[in-house]
Amino acid sequence: MALIVQKYGGTSVGSIGHIEHVAEKVATTRNQGHKVVVVVSAMSGETNRLMGMANEIQGQIAHGRELDVLLSTGEQVTIALLAMALQRRECAAVSSTGAQLDIRTDNKFNKARIKSIDAVRLKRSLDAGYVVVVAGFQGIDSEGNITTLGRGGSDTTAVALAAAVKADECQIYTDVDGVYTTDPRVEPNARRLARITFEEMLEMASLGSKVLQIRAVEFAGKYDVPIRVLSTFAEGPGTLITFEEDSMEDPLVSGIAFNRDEAQLTVKGVPDQPGVAAHILGPIADENIEVDMIVQNVGSDGTTDFTFTVHRNDYTKGMKVIDNTLKNIGGGQVGGDPNIVKLSLVGVGMRSHAGIASRMFTALAQEKINIRMISTSEIKISVVIEEKYLELGVRVLHEAFELDQEIGVEDTQ
Ligand code: ADP
Ligand code: ASP
Ligand code: MG
Repeated sequence: MALIVQKYGGTSVGSIGHIEHVAEKVATTRNQGHKVVVVVSAMSGETNRLMGMANEIQGQIAHGRELDVLLSTGEQVTIALLAMALQRRECAAVSSTGAQLDIRTDNKFNKARIKSIDAVRLKRSLDAGYVVVVAGFQGIDSEGNITTLGRGGSDTTAVALAAAVKADECQIYTDVDGVYTTDPRVEPNARRLARITFEEMLEMASLGSKVLQIRAVEFAGKYDVPIRVLSTFAEGPGTLITFEEDSMEDPLVSGIAFNRDEAQLTVKGVPDQPGVAAHILGPIADENIEVDMIVQNVGSDGTTDFTFTVHRNDYTKGMKVIDNTLKNIGGGQVGGDPNIVKLSLVGVGMRSHAGIASRMFTALAQEKINIRMISTSEIKISVVIEEKYLELGVRVLHEAFELDQEIGVEDTQ
């Protein structure tokens, strides 16, 4: 008998028919003698619908305490419906909101972090024979306010619950049958990976692959939670996220991630003197705008150019902040481009192999894709390119690194 946490995403519970299908799967696992905790997302499109109404009223990208009260309703609907569907199958089930399970978070509305979970209560229900159906993406702060965990946060709820009850496996059921070499919606030749190392998954998630929320992967690393990504709609072994390293079999590149949520800001003609970066980025940080990539050019004529990327939602605000800063400095012009993307190659094999960057740049150059910024770390190389070249860029890199070719052995567990 195992203790299993299963998480079903929005598409998997997107209609009553789908919820019935999920109930069948959960009941089957339960009837095999396992203890099951199920985490569900809101029905597909629901979080966006709620967000849209809040944006209309707030007249900007909605935020704050009331947004979390609103968004958390999406998951409350699905836990109740799934618990009903399980009960109709004679499978004892009880639903629970984040607050009812005392999923305690910090007080950062809209992007809260989980701090603790009442595992005792959860275990009591499991020991009494119940399937516990938990609302993903939500918690409660120390003042009793409802909080949410950021988009894709149900993944994190699932992994955090798995860590809290020391589950044997955390199964993430979604609309693809595993983690692919890249988003299969963009590259039809993308291939499912039988396994991916935790480190690579962390990079893929942080560089834009939304198949798992980054915090879920961080949690899994911290508490050694075994995760498997699987399809709700098709049988198969899915993708196992592994912790062991096997450098003999490491491919050079395991996957390609991309992020469309970035925008580029450029400051031209600022005085080339010590402190210029701090002068420009200080006020940006003061406005809580996160900066990703940064490039400062070699100065000429006593002035220099400075380019960095921010979240696309912060583009207009970032422009205004820099405009103000330049007025204070007394020089320079601000420009920018919201239509850029970051494209990244990820692979632990990069550690021990040179020449990957040049192979990447050559492949992009052959398609006349201009690289605007570059950043590298031990196991990734990222470039910023124009958004219109995203699909082409993914395709040429997938081909250049032969990611459609099978390597290694299938995990048949
Ligand atoms: P859920 O609602 O189940 O949480 P998501 O939409 O959040 O599902 O995540 C699944 C989606 O992630 C897939 O439909 C796919 O388009 C996208 N995706 C992005 N990168 C990858 C990747 N490398 N492998 C698999 N899916 C990916
Ligand atoms: N419903 C939330 C979202 O759409 C959380 C999740 O599905 O993981 O982002
Ligand atoms: Mg998701």
